[in-house]
Amino acid sequence: MSDCLFCKIIAGEIPSGKIYEDDDVFAFKDIHPKAPTHVLVIPKTHIATLADCDDAALLGTLMLRVKYIADEVLQLAAGYRVIINVREGGGQEVFHLHIHILGGKHLPF
Ligand code: AMP
Ligand code: ZN
Repeated sequence: MSDCLFCKIIAGEIPSGKIYEDDDVFAFKDIHPKAPTHVLVIPKTHIATLADCDDAALLGTLMLRVKYIADEVLQLAAGYRVIINVREGGGQEVFHLHIHILGGKHLPF
């Protein structure tokens, strides 16, 4: 999608702190980290919000990649938090589906 910030990051048109990429997903550092480690994992296809997505295979792939990135790339052995904000009421600001991985400190609820 031409005017989507995260599509531009995937295309390399906007720089990012990329930490992982494969055929299906792209992962990069959040520009305003809320924890010592704060990474966003996004599908390469443009999906505006979780509420718009019924693709079980894609959602399954995304969650498996989140696990791989957290455990193997970021090495968050002590644990981490996974968050998806959905629509404005859920705090979503960028309308390209993204999964937050937060870790590196104790995260009280
Ligand atoms: P959300 O509120 O769930 O839509 O989260 C959007 C996230 O994108 C926020 O945590 C922002 O800090 C992050 N963000 C916005 N622009 C950029 C950017 N250019 N590079 C990296 N992260 C960004
Ligand atoms: Zn997009």
